[in-house]
Amino acid sequence: MGRKNSKNQSSAHLSGGERLRFFEQRQDRMVETIRELVEIESPSDDKPSVDRIAAFLAPKFEQLGGEVHFHRSNDFGDSLQVDFVGQGASSAKRKPVLLLGHYDTVYPLGTLAGMPCKVEKGRLRGPGVLDMKSGIALMFHAIEALQEWQGGLPRPVTVFLVSDEEIGSRSSRKITERLAKQSAGVLVLEPAAGVRGAVKTARKGVGEYELRVKGVAAHAGLDPGKGHSAILELARQVAVIAKLNNLRQGVTVNAGVIGGGTRTNVIAAEASAGIDVRIKSAKQASGIDRRLRSLKPFDKHCRLEMMGGINRLPMERTAGVAELYKKAKSIAAEVGWELNEAAVGGGSDGNFTAGMGIPTLDGMGGVGDGAHAMHEYIVTSELSRRALLLAGMIERV
Ligand SMILES: [Zn+2]
Repeated sequence: MGRKNSKNQSSAHLSGGERLRFFEQRQDRMVETIRELVEIESPSDDKPSVDRIAAFLAPKFEQLGGEVHFHRSNDFGDSLQVDFVGQGASSAKRKPVLLLGHYDTVYPLGTLAGMPCKVEKGRLRGPGVLDMKSGIALMFHAIEALQEWQGGLPRPVTVFLVSDEEIGSRSSRKITERLAKQSAGVLVLEPAAGVRGAVKTARKGVGEYELRVKGVAAHAGLDPGKGHSAILELARQVAVIAKLNNLRQGVTVNAGVIGGGTRTNVIAAEASAGIDVRIKSAKQASGIDRRLRSLKPFDKHCRLEMMGGINRLPMERTAGVAELYKKAKSIAAEVGWELNEAAVGGGSDGNFTAGMGIPTLDGMGGVGDGAHAMHEYIVTSELSRRALLLAGMIERV
């Protein structure tokens, strides 16, 4: 027993360099894990596919000693929670760290055929490889390594993998928030920012709106005076909406999709625009929301209806976020790696947890480029550093 303890003790104190070598020797295994995940296609809107990857992952985490719990959903894929206990009395008493990720992707079924998962010049390609199946693999391998080094985990760890992040996390948000509330901190395994692998300490908030315009239809040739064009009204409103952009304050508004009308000889009775809104601080949410909802029709015979709202508040660089970044930076420095931080425009489930005031560090996942695009890839040689960083953060958060 004493011998075993002393062995664990010494392996717990592997130097940063030794840990890095440990992961470098396992790089091929990590790539294999990622490949397995990429090759199970899992578009957010296809429940059977998303459930398939959940069912694949559950026993893998069980083999590591995790207690698996499916959060069933009727309308979306099931989300997967895995709880690990801490080794020893003092470790068990620490608050858990929450490792947050998602296994849904934006790619429709069949994408893999034209975008196969393969290694090419040090890059692993494939749908969802960066966003964020490599992040899931990193969770798995970091937990495995800590157990191997120390005979158990230094604290309780909760893994939560959601099924619907790419479509707004409607089925999983409440669970994410509940788990975050119980945790000492949240590590989000979304892709790193840029090819230099910065972690994300701030994200913009995201809103999605739809402006619906109702006009009055009329025959464009016979009764032109009787019609009130919803399309004309929408066009004028789109110009007003564009003026709400304020790049300096970090507020952007984009009418990205429009539709309306039925035929060229009919004055359009209906038209609509889908609008993307980004905000830099939570304070901006109510202002932009109010301005969008108080648009007034130019043509008194047209009616406006604004649907939607702010979905994710910004992840702001709070003191708690900065503290986690400081820890991450020092873990990286032990292997001579200068870890940068970045503020990005995209939102993630980290916005929810940071918005609740729970210390959150995002962008802990793979390093690469092309998320949501045909050229999506990760740099395989970065995997060992990312795993080292994650293992260190699980100990120190
Ligand atoms: Zn993602």
